[in-house]
Amino acid sequence: MSKRVSSFELAMQNVGAAVKRLNFSPTVYEILKYPERELTAAIPVKMDDGTVKVFVGYRVQHCSVLGPFKGGIRFHPDVDMDEVRALALWMTMKCAVMGLPYGGAKGGVACDPKSMSPDEMEQLSRGYVRAMWPLLGKEKDIPAPDVYTNARVMSWMMDEYSKIKGYNEFGVITGKPVVVGGSSGREEATARGCVIAAREAATVLGIRLQGATVAVQGFGNVGSVAARLLHRMGCRIIAVSDSSGGIYNSKGLDPEGVCQYKKSTGRVKGYPGSQQISNEELLALECDILIPAALENQITEQNAHKIKARIIAEGANGPTTPEADRILTERKVFVVPDILANAGGVTVSYFEWVQNNTGLYWTEYEVNRRLEEKMVAAFKEVYQMYKARKDLSMRDCAYTVAVQRLGEAMWLRGWLGKGYEHHEQREAARA
Ligand code: GLU
Repeated sequence: MSKRVSSFELAMQNVGAAVKRLNFSPTVYEILKYPERELTAAIPVKMDDGTVKVFVGYRVQHCSVLGPFKGGIRFHPDVDMDEVRALALWMTMKCAVMGLPYGGAKGGVACDPKSMSPDEMEQLSRGYVRAMWPLLGKEKDIPAPDVYTNARVMSWMMDEYSKIKGYNEFGVITGKPVVVGGSSGREEATARGCVIAAREAATVLGIRLQGATVAVQGFGNVGSVAARLLHRMGCRIIAVSDSSGGIYNSKGLDPEGVCQYKKSTGRVKGYPGSQQISNEELLALECDILIPAALENQITEQNAHKIKARIIAEGANGPTTPEADRILTERKVFVVPDILANAGGVTVSYFEWVQNNTGLYWTEYEVNRRLEEKMVAAFKEVYQMYKARKDLSMRDCAYTVAVQRLGEAMWLRGWLGKGYEHHEQREAARA
């Protein structure tokens, strides 16, 4: 059997290309190639039946040149070090492209949350913090939710950290419930940001959102909210899916109804009035906007040539492989890359952290207004480069904007050493 491709190595290809494009020092690439710190920890959990199960947890702190580490914690059976490393790198890029004062990090535990009770989830969450706490802190490394972790998990983690420290430290983690230091609007933020990115893309392509057709892969934290928001904006949601499969209705599904249905049955499959389709079929549907909001490596060289969507707004991290990316570029599909399209979550995490640090809490209106402003500004910056440089994809441009900020910060902080005075970065990039 051939060795599984490393997600981290694939993600580094984009970084390498951006470093070359900017004519930056190879040291910029070297620094980004090796995460600053990684920790693997055993997390023993007493299960409901009295036995002890040992889970493996990870935290990767990728690059802190722009600020303290930031990034979610994933609970999923497929979590391993390579995946967490790739996700941490994407966080570095995401924070940089958005201009947030954070570095990138990610955490994860290999586990199957679907088969665990709430008590077991709580013990695992607290165990994760007991294993990782020396790395964490509101000025050091600030986790958040990711796949199969939510506000409840964040509240347990914040509580455990606060108990270890002996005082309440709300700012150590974001994505908390509002009553214990969370921010209004955080739960929907990733989806809201993704919808803003899709809307901006539709605007520049001259596609009217009213009546536009949408397919959403993944009906979790991101996909379900994105479907609801786009529906409210007048789009027709023709298909959605989750790990159990997909549903389709050419006249449009009611995402609120699908949410209710999923709440009671645990899946979207079987939703009344819908036709059953596979995840593969969903990706190949004729539609205006496709939102992959599940896991990595969904759009591959096997299926990229079947995609008929005009816009792909990547709600998930890393849903498109580099080979697929090349095919999509050739086929002129407009891709809003993950590091931009799903950055709404970490952006409102940043707002939450600012609120925790100042003790002044904002209204949901204020949070959404600021999110809108940041998303539109980042989209414009990337799109301007895309318009000016006809040979680059939106992903290439997003990476270039991100690496430009990272390289400039590295140079200014003296990380690149002598010989790179030409790293008057902005000048170099503008030339
Ligand atoms: N897990 C989310 C992401 O991949 C949010 C990270 C955060 O809020 O720190 O962007």
